[in-house]
Amino acid sequence: MNPSISRIVIIGAGQAGAWAAHTLRQQGYGGSLAVVSDEERVFYERPPLSKQVLAGDMAPAALQLFSDEAIDAMNIDWHKPARATAIDRRAHVVTLDNGTKLPYDKLLLATGSRARVPVQEWLNLPRVFTLRTPEDAARLGERLAPGKRLAVLGGGWIGLEVAATARAKGVAVSLFELGERLCARSVRPEVSDFLRDLHLGQGVEVNLDCGLLELVAGDDGTLRLFRDEQLLLEADAVVVGAGAEIATELGRDAGLEVAQGLVVDEQGQTSDPDIYAAGDVAIHPGLGFCIQSWANAQNQAISAAKAMLGEDSPYREEPWIWSDQYDCNIQILGIPADGGSRLVRRQSGERQHAFIYLDQDDRLQSMIAVNDARLVKLGKRWLKAGTVLPAAQLADPAVNLMSLKP
Ligand SMILES: Cc1cc2nc3c(=O)[nH]c(=O)nc-3n(C[C@H](O)[C@H](O)[C@H](O)COP(=O)(O)OP(=O)(O)OC[C@H]3O[C@@H](n4cnc5c(N)ncnc54)[C@H](O)[C@@H]3O)c2cc1C
Repeated sequence: MNPSISRIVIIGAGQAGAWAAHTLRQQGYGGSLAVVSDEERVFYERPPLSKQVLAGDMAPAALQLFSDEAIDAMNIDWHKPARATAIDRRAHVVTLDNGTKLPYDKLLLATGSRARVPVQEWLNLPRVFTLRTPEDAARLGERLAPGKRLAVLGGGWIGLEVAATARAKGVAVSLFELGERLCARSVRPEVSDFLRDLHLGQGVEVNLDCGLLELVAGDDGTLRLFRDEQLLLEADAVVVGAGAEIATELGRDAGLEVAQGLVVDEQGQTSDPDIYAAGDVAIHPGLGFCIQSWANAQNQAISAAKAMLGEDSPYREEPWIWSDQYDCNIQILGIPADGGSRLVRRQSGERQHAFIYLDQDDRLQSMIAVNDARLVKLGKRWLKAGTVLPAAQLADPAVNLMSLKP
C-alpha cells in the first residue's frame, strides 16, 4: 500500500461508493475516508425498488448493503445530505454545497446516474413518477391499487419491471415506447419480441412507435395522454422510464475526459491520476460506454478501490444484468452485437429458454437466458475461456451443457 495516501474522498454512496469504501477498509487502508452523499439513506441497492419494494414485499431497510455495525466499523467521515459541487484538481480539494472543503490524496467519483425525463414540465404534474429511491417507490406504490390505470412511458428494463409489478397488483397498464421495439439498446429484435409477447400475455397494452406524447393533468387528478392533440388515454398515474442521465457534471466541470460517461482505464483511473470513477458514471474500459448494472457498479468499484491503494487491479468483467418480470428471471450476459453473430435458441422447459449468440468462430458472444441461472454461470466460464461451442448441442435440450466444459 502506498504510505503517502492518507486522505480518500468518495462522492456518491450508492452501490459503487459502498463497495469502494468496504474494499478500502478490507484492504487495510487506515487513513481518513470521507463519503459525500446527497441522499440521507446510504449504501443501499436499487434493483428491488422496481420489484419487491414496489410490490410491497420488501421494506426499504432490507436494501442496505452492509449491517449497521459493519458500516460503523468502516469509520467513515460522513457528509450527508450534501452535494459535492466542485473539484479543485490542483489543490486536491472537493467543495460541498454547504461550504465544507475536503482535501484528498485520492478521489473516487461514484455519482451514478439519475432518471431521464424527456419533458421537464412533466415532473410538475402530480402523479407523474420516476423511480430511483425508496421514497419514489413508496409514492408510486400508493397509486397501484386494483382497478387503477397506469401509463408507463418507456419500454426499457425499469419500465417493463414496473409494468409487471403493477399487473401483479391488479392495475391496468398501458406502455408507450417511442422506438419500434422494447429494450432496443440492450437486446436484439427476437428478444424484444419475446418481451413484448410476455407483457401482452399478461394483459399489458403495449404501444410501440408511439410518437411524441403530451401529458395534461385533469381537474380530478387524472392524467390525460395526447398524441397530435388526440386523447389516447386517461391514467391514474404515469411512470417515466425513459432511461438514465449519467451524472458526469462534476468530473466534466473539473476538466476530466468525458465520453458517454467519465473515461477511465482498467484500473478505474480517469484522465487525472488522482481521480478514479466507477459504476454508472464511468465507462466500461473494455467497451467504451457505460453499463448501468448492479454487478458493474460493484465490481468496477472494488477494482478501482484496490487500484487507488496502488494494487494492480484491472477490471475486465463481462457485462451481466438481470431483470425479474412476472415468473421470468431474465439474465443478459455480454453485449449482443448488431450483426456478425449466429443465434442459437435453446428451449429447455416451458418457461426456461435462452438466446445464445456465437461469433464466427463459434465462441460465445453473448446470451439472454430466461429462468436459467445455471446456463448463465456456465456462459461466464465459456466467455472467459473462449470455449468453442457446438451449436447443435447448445440447441438440444437433451444435452447436459455441463458436458461442454470450458
Ligand atoms: C429501479 C431500478 C431497478 C434496477 N434494477 C436492476 C436490476 O435488476 N439489475 C441490474 O443489474 N441493475 C439494476 N439497476 C441498476 C443499478 O441499480 C445501478 O446500475 C446501480 O445502482 C449503480 O450504482 P452507482 O453507485 O454507480 O450509482 P447510483 O446508484 O446512481 O448512486 C450514485 C449516488 O451518488 C449521488 N450523487 C450524485 N452526484 C452527487 C454529488 N455531486 N454529490 C453527492 N452525491 C451525489 C446520487 O444521488 C446517488 O445517491 C436498477 C436501477 C434502478 C433505479
